[in-house]
Amino acid sequence: MMIKPVQVMVVTPHPDDAEFGVAGTVVRWTREGKDVIYVVCTNGDKGTSDPNMKSDELARIREQEQLAAAKLLGVREVIFLRHPDQSLEDTPEFRKEIVRLIRMYKPETVVSVDPYRRYLWHRDHRITGQVTLDAVFPYARDFLSYPDLLEEGLQPHKVKEVLLWASEDTNYRSDVTDTFDIKLAALRCHKSQIGFDIEVNMEKWLRERAKQMAEGENYELAEAFHRIEIWR
Ligand SMILES: [Zn+2]
Repeated sequence: MMIKPVQVMVVTPHPDDAEFGVAGTVVRWTREGKDVIYVVCTNGDKGTSDPNMKSDELARIREQEQLAAAKLLGVREVIFLRHPDQSLEDTPEFRKEIVRLIRMYKPETVVSVDPYRRYLWHRDHRITGQVTLDAVFPYARDFLSYPDLLEEGLQPHKVKEVLLWASEDTNYRSDVTDTFDIKLAALRCHKSQIGFDIEVNMEKWLRERAKQMAEGENYELAEAFHRIEIWR
């Protein structure tokens, strides 16, 4: 099993979350020649207010939307774990899925969603962030964590940094001034998620938010994260 290592692995709860959180930075990375992959944890099959939409049809549509968005951003590969929407739990099985992928693709940077947002927070987001952090440290790192993965040839891997989007405690900003338009275009690929109201207001709202995130910097638009450097 020879897989070319990637610089960045983005672990996202639903199709479209990564576009909101990190797409502008992803474009910057891929333009620099970095290999970026997406891991999409759920199939998003509950994400609709259309009473005539069926879950399996929605899941199919959202996979296509995610692939189109990833293509615009220059993402090398999209891995769909296809858990049902609103079903993620912090289980040994889910954690091992993420550990397996980290050991296969050996990312330097893992990007996911901050699990520690207070009060109203989508359960899938909380679980994805938490399980991804646990997978990075210590489970992907330690030899004795998964003897069966070792037997498969999946060696332990040390991730160097984690970036978490949607954080209430940001300590790292990324300049997306030049890539913001592609972020918007990638978001528009998620047609099933963007009703008329959002389409009209989305650009304004996102631009305002990106401006706020860049406050005090010498550039106009930013994405903001909680960054954890892992030195152990
Ligand atoms: Zn989501």
